[in-house]
Amino acid sequence: MEINLDDEDNDAPDVLDPYDIVYANVPSETHKLEAVENCEHCNAKKFEYETPGFCCRSGQIHLSTPDTPPKLMRLWSASDDDARHFRSNIRFFNRHFSFTSLYCHLDHMTTDMRNGGVYTFRAHGQIYHNVRSFGKEEGTEPRHLELYFHDDDPSLELRYRRCREECLRKDKEVIDRLVAIMRGNPYSEHFRTMGAVDNLEDYHVELNLVSCVFRAKLEAMKIKLLKNDILGKVRAYVYVVEFQKRGLPHAHFLLIMKRKWKLTCPEQYDRLICAELPNKKKYPELYIMVTKHMMHGPCGVLNPNCPCTKGRSSCKNHYPRPFVESTSQGKDSYPIYRRRDNGSKEKVRGYKLDNRWVVPYNPHILHAFNCHINVEACSSIKSVKYLFKYVYKGHDRASIAVRESGQADKEGNIDEIKAL
Ligand SMILES: [Zn+2]
Ligand SMILES: [Zn+2]
Repeated sequence: MEINLDDEDNDAPDVLDPYDIVYANVPSETHKLEAVENCEHCNAKKFEYETPGFCCRSGQIHLSTPDTPPKLMRLWSASDDDARHFRSNIRFFNRHFSFTSLYCHLDHMTTDMRNGGVYTFRAHGQIYHNVRSFGKEEGTEPRHLELYFHDDDPSLELRYRRCREECLRKDKEVIDRLVAIMRGNPYSEHFRTMGAVDNLEDYHVELNLVSCVFRAKLEAMKIKLLKNDILGKVRAYVYVVEFQKRGLPHAHFLLIMKRKWKLTCPEQYDRLICAELPNKKKYPELYIMVTKHMMHGPCGVLNPNCPCTKGRSSCKNHYPRPFVESTSQGKDSYPIYRRRDNGSKEKVRGYKLDNRWVVPYNPHILHAFNCHINVEACSSIKSVKYLFKYVYKGHDRASIAVRESGQADKEGNIDEIKAL
Protein backbone atom coordinates (compact mmCIF):
# COMPACT_ATOMS: atom_id res chain seq x y z
CA MET A 1 0.00 0.00 0.00
CA GLU A 2 1.31 3.42 -0.98
CA ILE A 3 0.86 6.14 1.58
CA ASN A 4 1.73 9.71 0.90
CA LEU A 5 3.01 11.06 4.18
CA ASP A 6 2.88 14.67 2.98
CA ASP A 7 -0.80 14.36 2.13
CA GLU A 8 -2.33 17.66 3.26
CA ASP A 9 -5.99 16.63 3.19
CA ASN A 10 -5.30 14.91 6.46
CA ASP A 11 -6.15 17.70 8.88
CA ALA A 12 -5.17 15.98 12.11
CA PRO A 13 -4.17 18.74 14.53
CA ASP A 14 -0.45 19.38 14.88
CA VAL A 15 -0.71 20.26 18.55
CA LEU A 16 0.45 18.38 21.61
CA ASP A 17 -1.91 15.50 22.30
CA PRO A 18 -2.18 14.47 25.96
CA TYR A 19 -3.03 10.95 24.85
CA ASP A 20 0.33 10.59 23.07
CA ILE A 21 1.62 8.73 26.13
CA VAL A 22 0.45 5.54 24.45
CA TYR A 23 3.14 6.06 21.81
CA ALA A 24 5.92 6.44 24.34
CA ASN A 25 8.35 3.49 24.43
CA VAL A 26 7.63 2.49 20.87
CA PRO A 27 10.77 0.59 19.85
CA SER A 28 12.91 2.33 17.26
CA GLU A 29 13.16 -0.78 15.11
CA THR A 30 10.94 -3.62 14.06
CA HIS A 31 11.93 -6.95 15.55
CA LYS A 32 14.32 -9.02 13.43
CA LEU A 33 15.28 -12.59 14.14
CA GLU A 34 18.98 -12.81 14.96
CA ALA A 35 21.22 -15.04 12.89
CA VAL A 36 22.24 -18.01 15.01
CA GLU A 37 25.10 -20.45 14.64
CA ASN A 38 24.55 -23.69 12.74
CA CYS A 39 24.16 -26.79 14.89
CA GLU A 40 27.60 -27.86 16.13
CA HIS A 41 26.74 -31.52 15.55
CA CYS A 42 24.88 -31.69 12.25
CA ASN A 43 25.52 -28.20 10.86
CA ALA A 44 21.76 -27.59 10.42
CA LYS A 45 20.77 -23.98 9.84
CA LYS A 46 18.66 -22.83 12.76
CA PHE A 47 16.20 -20.12 13.68
CA GLU A 48 16.53 -18.10 16.83
CA TYR A 49 14.98 -19.79 19.92
CA GLU A 50 15.14 -23.29 18.46
CA THR A 51 16.38 -25.63 21.15
CA PRO A 52 19.79 -27.35 20.84
CA GLY A 53 18.13 -30.73 20.38
CA PHE A 54 15.66 -29.49 17.77
CA CYS A 55 17.50 -30.81 14.69
CA CYS A 56 19.48 -33.90 15.72
CA ARG A 57 18.88 -34.30 19.49
CA SER A 58 22.27 -32.73 20.13
CA GLY A 59 24.18 -35.12 17.91
CA GLN A 60 22.29 -38.31 18.80
CA ILE A 61 20.79 -38.61 15.34
CA HIS A 62 23.11 -38.96 12.37
CA LEU A 63 22.01 -38.44 8.81
CA SER A 64 24.14 -40.19 6.28
CA THR A 65 25.40 -38.11 3.38
CA PRO A 66 25.37 -40.44 0.41
CA ASP A 67 28.30 -40.35 -1.97
CA THR A 68 27.54 -39.48 -5.56
CA PRO A 69 27.23 -42.77 -7.46
CA PRO A 70 30.35 -43.19 -9.66
CA LYS A 71 28.18 -43.74 -12.74
CA LEU A 72 26.44 -40.40 -12.15
CA MET A 73 29.78 -38.74 -11.52
CA ARG A 74 30.97 -40.00 -14.89
CA LEU A 75 27.96 -38.40 -16.65
CA TRP A 76 28.72 -35.19 -14.77
CA SER A 77 32.44 -35.03 -15.56
CA ALA A 78 33.46 -37.28 -18.49
CA SER A 79 33.88 -36.16 -22.09
CA ASP A 80 32.12 -39.21 -23.59
CA ASP A 81 29.26 -38.61 -26.00
CA ASP A 82 26.49 -39.65 -23.59
CA ALA A 83 27.99 -37.58 -20.76
CA ARG A 84 28.14 -34.47 -22.94
CA HIS A 85 24.54 -35.05 -24.06
CA PHE A 86 23.49 -35.43 -20.41
CA ARG A 87 25.13 -32.15 -19.41
CA SER A 88 23.87 -30.05 -22.28
CA ASN A 89 20.28 -31.32 -21.71
CA ILE A 90 20.47 -31.51 -17.95
CA ARG A 91 17.19 -29.64 -17.39
CA PHE A 92 15.33 -32.09 -19.59
CA PHE A 93 16.70 -35.07 -17.66
CA ASN A 94 16.21 -33.39 -14.32
CA ARG A 95 12.54 -32.81 -15.16
CA HIS A 96 12.17 -36.29 -16.54
CA PHE A 97 13.43 -37.86 -13.30
CA SER A 98 12.00 -35.39 -10.77
CA PHE A 99 10.13 -36.83 -7.80
CA THR A 100 8.04 -33.73 -7.07
CA SER A 101 7.33 -30.24 -8.31
CA LEU A 102 6.53 -26.95 -6.57
CA TYR A 103 2.92 -26.42 -5.57
CA CYS A 104 1.45 -23.21 -4.16
CA HIS A 105 -1.46 -20.78 -4.50
CA LEU A 106 -0.19 -18.26 -7.01
CA ASP A 107 -1.37 -14.69 -7.07
CA HIS A 108 -2.47 -14.50 -10.70
CA MET A 109 -2.85 -10.72 -10.51
CA THR A 110 0.93 -10.37 -10.42
CA THR A 111 1.82 -13.21 -12.80
CA ASP A 112 -0.40 -11.83 -15.56
CA MET A 113 1.82 -9.39 -17.42
CA ARG A 114 -1.07 -8.17 -19.59
CA ASN A 115 -2.26 -6.17 -16.60
CA GLY A 116 1.00 -4.27 -16.80
CA GLY A 117 3.95 -4.36 -14.49
CA VAL A 118 6.80 -6.76 -14.06
CA TYR A 119 6.19 -10.50 -13.72
CA THR A 120 6.12 -11.19 -10.00
CA PHE A 121 6.00 -14.65 -8.50
CA ARG A 122 3.86 -14.25 -5.41
CA ALA A 123 2.49 -17.23 -3.52
CA HIS A 124 -0.17 -17.28 -0.78
CA GLY A 125 -0.01 -19.58 2.22
CA GLN A 126 1.88 -22.82 2.35
CA ILE A 127 4.29 -24.05 -0.28
CA TYR A 128 4.32 -27.76 -0.95
CA HIS A 129 6.24 -30.41 -2.79
CA ASN A 130 3.54 -31.55 -5.15
CA VAL A 131 3.24 -35.24 -5.94
CA ARG A 132 -0.08 -34.88 -7.75
CA SER A 133 -1.07 -37.09 -10.69
CA PHE A 134 0.02 -40.37 -9.25
CA GLY A 135 -0.48 -42.62 -12.23
CA LYS A 136 -4.23 -42.51 -11.70
CA GLU A 137 -5.27 -39.82 -14.12
CA GLU A 138 -7.52 -41.20 -16.82
CA GLY A 139 -6.35 -40.86 -20.37
CA THR A 140 -3.04 -39.14 -19.62
CA GLU A 141 0.41 -40.45 -20.33
CA PRO A 142 2.45 -41.18 -17.20
CA ARG A 143 5.04 -38.51 -16.49
CA HIS A 144 7.49 -37.31 -13.86
CA LEU A 145 7.14 -39.41 -10.73
CA GLU A 146 4.61 -41.79 -12.30
CA LEU A 147 7.32 -43.05 -14.63
CA TYR A 148 9.04 -44.70 -11.69
CA PHE A 149 6.07 -47.06 -11.33
CA HIS A 150 7.04 -48.59 -14.67
CA ASP A 151 10.80 -48.73 -14.27
CA ASP A 152 10.78 -52.48 -13.67
CA ASP A 153 9.51 -52.92 -17.22
CA PRO A 154 12.69 -53.81 -19.15
CA SER A 155 11.44 -52.15 -22.36
CA LEU A 156 11.31 -48.72 -20.63
CA GLU A 157 8.69 -47.94 -23.25
CA LEU A 158 6.93 -45.20 -21.25
CA ARG A 159 10.14 -43.34 -20.51
CA TYR A 160 11.21 -43.53 -24.14
CA ARG A 161 7.86 -42.02 -25.20
CA ARG A 162 8.88 -38.77 -23.57
CA CYS A 163 12.14 -38.55 -25.51
CA ARG A 164 12.61 -35.79 -28.05
CA GLU A 165 12.23 -36.72 -31.71
CA GLU A 166 15.40 -34.90 -32.79
CA CYS A 167 17.75 -36.66 -30.36
CA LEU A 168 15.89 -39.91 -29.74
CA ARG A 169 18.90 -42.23 -29.70
CA LYS A 170 20.97 -40.04 -27.36
CA ASP A 171 18.03 -39.42 -25.01
CA LYS A 172 17.35 -43.14 -24.77
CA GLU A 173 20.98 -43.89 -24.04
CA VAL A 174 21.13 -41.42 -21.14
CA ILE A 175 17.76 -42.54 -19.80
CA ASP A 176 19.00 -46.14 -19.72
CA ARG A 177 22.01 -45.06 -17.69
CA LEU A 178 19.93 -42.94 -15.25
CA VAL A 179 17.33 -45.68 -14.71
CA ALA A 180 20.16 -48.07 -13.85
CA ILE A 181 21.64 -45.53 -11.39
CA MET A 182 18.22 -44.94 -9.80
CA ARG A 183 17.64 -48.67 -9.23
CA GLY A 184 19.55 -48.47 -5.97
CA ASN A 185 18.02 -45.15 -4.88
CA PRO A 186 15.80 -45.68 -1.81
CA TYR A 187 13.29 -42.97 -2.90
CA SER A 188 13.01 -44.48 -6.33
CA GLU A 189 12.48 -47.91 -4.80
CA HIS A 190 9.83 -46.51 -2.46
CA PHE A 191 7.96 -44.77 -5.25
CA ARG A 192 7.97 -47.92 -7.37
CA THR A 193 5.94 -49.59 -4.61
CA MET A 194 3.61 -46.62 -4.10
CA GLY A 195 2.14 -46.94 -7.57
CA ALA A 196 -0.26 -49.53 -6.15
CA VAL A 197 -1.64 -47.31 -3.35
CA ASP A 198 -5.14 -45.78 -3.70
CA ASN A 199 -6.19 -42.21 -2.82
CA LEU A 200 -2.84 -40.56 -3.18
CA GLU A 201 -4.32 -37.23 -4.33
CA ASP A 202 -3.89 -35.61 -0.94
CA TYR A 203 -0.26 -36.52 -0.41
CA HIS A 204 2.05 -33.55 -0.06
CA VAL A 205 5.17 -32.71 1.89
CA GLU A 206 5.19 -29.33 3.60
CA LEU A 207 8.09 -26.94 3.59
CA ASN A 208 7.63 -25.72 7.11
CA LEU A 209 9.37 -22.36 6.85
CA VAL A 210 6.30 -20.28 7.76
CA SER A 211 5.80 -22.21 10.98
CA CYS A 212 9.50 -21.93 11.85
CA VAL A 213 9.49 -18.15 11.57
CA PHE A 214 6.14 -17.89 13.36
CA ARG A 215 7.39 -19.94 16.28
CA ALA A 216 10.57 -17.87 16.60
CA LYS A 217 8.56 -14.62 16.51
CA LEU A 218 6.14 -16.01 19.08
CA GLU A 219 9.06 -16.80 21.40
CA ALA A 220 10.34 -13.25 20.93
CA MET A 221 6.89 -11.90 21.80
CA LYS A 222 6.71 -14.06 24.93
CA ILE A 223 10.01 -12.56 26.07
CA LYS A 224 8.63 -9.07 25.58
CA LEU A 225 5.38 -9.87 27.41
CA LEU A 226 6.67 -12.08 30.21
CA LYS A 227 10.27 -11.00 30.82
CA ASN A 228 10.40 -7.38 29.65
CA ASP A 229 6.93 -6.74 31.10
CA ILE A 230 5.98 -4.37 28.28
CA LEU A 231 2.32 -4.49 29.34
CA GLY A 232 3.07 -4.79 33.06
CA LYS A 233 3.94 -7.71 35.29
CA VAL A 234 2.15 -10.89 34.32
CA ARG A 235 0.91 -13.34 36.93
CA ALA A 236 -0.41 -16.04 34.62
CA TYR A 237 -0.98 -16.50 30.95
CA VAL A 238 -2.49 -18.90 28.50
CA TYR A 239 -2.19 -19.00 24.76
CA VAL A 240 -3.13 -21.20 21.87
CA VAL A 241 -1.72 -21.48 18.38
CA GLU A 242 -4.14 -22.16 15.56
CA PHE A 243 -3.69 -22.88 11.89
CA GLN A 244 -6.06 -21.35 9.40
CA LYS A 245 -7.31 -23.20 6.35
CA ARG A 246 -4.38 -22.09 4.25
CA GLY A 247 -2.01 -23.29 6.92
CA LEU A 248 -1.16 -19.84 8.25
CA PRO A 249 -0.60 -19.89 12.01
CA HIS A 250 -1.91 -17.34 14.51
CA ALA A 251 -2.00 -17.15 18.30
CA HIS A 252 -4.47 -16.04 20.97
CA PHE A 253 -2.99 -14.90 24.26
CA LEU A 254 -4.71 -14.19 27.56
CA LEU A 255 -2.58 -12.41 30.14
CA ILE A 256 -3.63 -12.15 33.75
CA MET A 257 -1.73 -9.28 35.32
CA LYS A 258 -0.48 -8.92 38.87
CA ARG A 259 -2.75 -6.80 40.98
CA LYS A 260 -0.75 -3.59 40.63
CA TRP A 261 -0.70 -3.88 36.85
CA LYS A 262 -4.33 -4.81 36.29
CA LEU A 263 -6.07 -2.43 33.91
CA THR A 264 -9.18 -1.17 35.62
CA CYS A 265 -9.91 2.38 34.50
CA PRO A 266 -9.90 4.45 31.27
CA GLU A 267 -6.65 6.25 32.21
CA GLN A 268 -4.89 2.89 32.36
CA TYR A 269 -6.41 1.63 29.10
CA ASP A 270 -5.24 4.82 27.39
CA ARG A 271 -1.64 4.19 28.43
CA LEU A 272 -1.41 0.82 26.68
CA ILE A 273 -4.15 0.50 24.12
CA CYS A 274 -5.08 2.76 21.26
CA ALA A 275 -7.85 2.59 18.64
CA GLU A 276 -6.94 5.66 16.60
CA LEU A 277 -4.71 6.45 13.65
CA PRO A 278 -1.53 7.95 15.08
CA ASN A 279 -0.44 11.41 13.95
CA LYS A 280 0.97 10.87 10.47
CA LYS A 281 3.74 13.45 10.79
CA LYS A 282 4.86 12.55 14.30
CA TYR A 283 4.71 8.76 13.97
CA PRO A 284 5.04 8.02 10.25
CA GLU A 285 6.22 4.41 10.57
CA LEU A 286 3.58 3.50 13.11
CA TYR A 287 0.97 5.25 10.96
CA ILE A 288 1.86 3.03 8.01
CA MET A 289 1.69 -0.09 10.20
CA VAL A 290 -1.74 0.84 11.60
CA THR A 291 -3.14 1.46 8.13
CA LYS A 292 -1.56 -1.73 6.83
CA HIS A 293 -2.45 -4.13 9.65
CA MET A 294 -4.98 -2.66 12.05
CA MET A 295 -7.84 -1.29 9.92
CA HIS A 296 -11.01 -3.39 9.87
CA GLY A 297 -13.12 -3.57 6.74
CA PRO A 298 -14.29 -1.85 4.67
CA CYS A 299 -17.40 -3.87 5.45
CA GLY A 300 -21.09 -3.29 6.22
CA VAL A 301 -22.81 -0.99 3.72
CA LEU A 302 -19.45 -0.14 2.09
CA ASN A 303 -18.81 -3.78 1.22
CA PRO A 304 -21.71 -6.18 1.95
CA ASN A 305 -19.68 -9.14 0.63
CA CYS A 306 -17.00 -8.80 3.29
CA PRO A 307 -16.87 -12.10 5.27
CA CYS A 308 -17.85 -10.27 8.50
CA THR A 309 -21.01 -8.87 6.86
CA LYS A 310 -22.05 -11.45 4.30
CA GLY A 311 -25.58 -12.66 4.96
CA ARG A 312 -26.11 -10.11 7.78
CA SER A 313 -27.42 -6.58 7.98
CA SER A 314 -24.18 -5.23 9.46
CA CYS A 315 -20.67 -6.22 10.49
CA LYS A 316 -20.62 -8.99 13.09
CA ASN A 317 -17.64 -7.28 14.75
CA HIS A 318 -19.63 -4.04 15.09
CA TYR A 319 -17.51 -1.94 12.73
CA PRO A 320 -17.58 0.97 12.06
CA ARG A 321 -17.56 1.72 15.81
CA PRO A 322 -18.97 5.10 16.87
CA PHE A 323 -16.74 8.13 17.32
CA VAL A 324 -16.15 8.91 21.00
CA GLU A 325 -14.10 11.71 22.56
CA SER A 326 -12.61 9.67 25.37
CA THR A 327 -12.24 6.10 26.58
CA SER A 328 -14.87 4.86 29.01
CA GLN A 329 -15.62 1.69 30.91
CA GLY A 330 -18.51 0.37 28.82
CA LYS A 331 -21.46 -1.69 30.03
CA ASP A 332 -19.77 -5.05 29.92
CA SER A 333 -16.15 -5.51 30.89
CA TYR A 334 -14.73 -4.33 27.58
CA PRO A 335 -13.78 -0.66 27.45
CA ILE A 336 -15.16 1.69 24.81
CA TYR A 337 -11.97 3.04 23.28
CA ARG A 338 -11.41 6.66 22.36
CA ARG A 339 -11.98 7.23 18.63
CA ARG A 340 -11.95 10.95 18.01
CA ASP A 341 -13.59 12.52 14.97
CA ASN A 342 -10.43 14.49 14.16
CA GLY A 343 -10.39 14.24 10.39
CA SER A 344 -7.72 11.52 10.26
CA LYS A 345 -8.47 9.06 7.52
CA GLU A 346 -6.56 6.88 5.10
CA LYS A 347 -7.48 5.03 1.94
CA VAL A 348 -7.49 1.32 2.78
CA ARG A 349 -8.63 -1.34 0.32
CA GLY A 350 -10.38 1.26 -1.81
CA TYR A 351 -12.16 3.34 0.86
CA LYS A 352 -11.14 6.25 3.06
CA LEU A 353 -11.35 4.79 6.57
CA ASP A 354 -11.16 6.87 9.77
CA ASN A 355 -10.75 6.16 13.49
CA ARG A 356 -14.04 4.25 13.59
CA TRP A 357 -12.34 1.38 11.73
CA VAL A 358 -9.19 1.01 13.82
CA VAL A 359 -8.80 -2.35 15.61
CA PRO A 360 -7.38 -1.71 19.12
CA TYR A 361 -3.61 -2.17 19.26
CA ASN A 362 -0.59 -1.62 21.46
CA PRO A 363 1.87 0.70 19.64
CA HIS A 364 4.95 -1.01 21.10
CA ILE A 365 3.90 -4.51 20.02
CA LEU A 366 2.64 -3.36 16.63
CA HIS A 367 5.87 -1.54 15.89
CA ALA A 368 7.99 -4.42 17.17
CA PHE A 369 6.37 -7.08 15.03
CA ASN A 370 4.84 -5.17 12.13
CA CYS A 371 1.84 -7.47 11.77
CA HIS A 372 -1.79 -7.67 12.88
CA ILE A 373 -1.84 -7.94 16.68
CA ASN A 374 -5.08 -6.94 18.38
CA VAL A 375 -4.66 -5.98 22.05
CA GLU A 376 -7.67 -5.47 24.31
CA ALA A 377 -8.27 -5.02 27.99
CA CYS A 378 -10.94 -7.06 29.67
CA SER A 379 -11.45 -6.62 33.33
CA SER A 380 -14.02 -9.10 34.52
CA ILE A 381 -16.02 -12.23 33.81
CA LYS A 382 -15.70 -11.54 30.08
CA SER A 383 -12.19 -12.91 30.16
CA VAL A 384 -13.66 -16.30 30.98
CA LYS A 385 -15.78 -15.95 27.88
CA TYR A 386 -12.66 -15.08 25.91
CA LEU A 387 -10.95 -18.16 27.26
CA PHE A 388 -13.70 -20.39 26.02
CA LYS A 389 -14.27 -18.57 22.78
CA TYR A 390 -10.70 -18.58 21.53
CA VAL A 391 -8.28 -20.31 23.78
CA TYR A 392 -10.27 -23.44 24.47
CA LYS A 393 -12.37 -23.78 21.37
CA GLY A 394 -11.81 -27.49 21.18
CA HIS A 395 -8.20 -27.24 20.20
CA ASP A 396 -5.54 -29.58 21.45
CA ARG A 397 -2.60 -27.16 21.45
CA ALA A 398 -2.82 -25.06 24.59
CA SER A 399 0.14 -24.14 26.71
CA ILE A 400 -0.32 -22.81 30.20
CA ALA A 401 2.10 -21.35 32.69
CA VAL A 402 1.58 -19.98 36.13
CA ARG A 403 4.02 -17.67 37.82
CA GLU A 404 4.41 -17.98 41.51
CA SER A 405 5.13 -14.62 42.99
CA GLY A 406 7.94 -14.31 45.47
CA GLN A 407 9.65 -17.59 44.63
CA ALA A 408 13.20 -17.19 43.40
CA ASP A 409 14.79 -19.38 40.74
CA LYS A 410 18.34 -20.77 40.57
CA GLU A 411 19.82 -17.43 39.52
CA GLY A 412 17.89 -15.69 42.22
CA ASN A 413 15.36 -14.19 39.81
CA ILE A 414 11.85 -14.00 41.06
CA ASP A 415 9.01 -14.99 38.74
CA GLU A 416 10.47 -17.97 37.04
CA ILE A 417 7.98 -19.21 34.51
CA LYS A 418 6.74 -22.63 35.39
CA ALA A 419 5.35 -24.52 32.45
CA LEU A 420 2.72 -27.03 33.39
ZN1 LIG B 1 21.95 -30.72 14.89
ZN1 LIG C 1 -16.65 -5.92 9.58
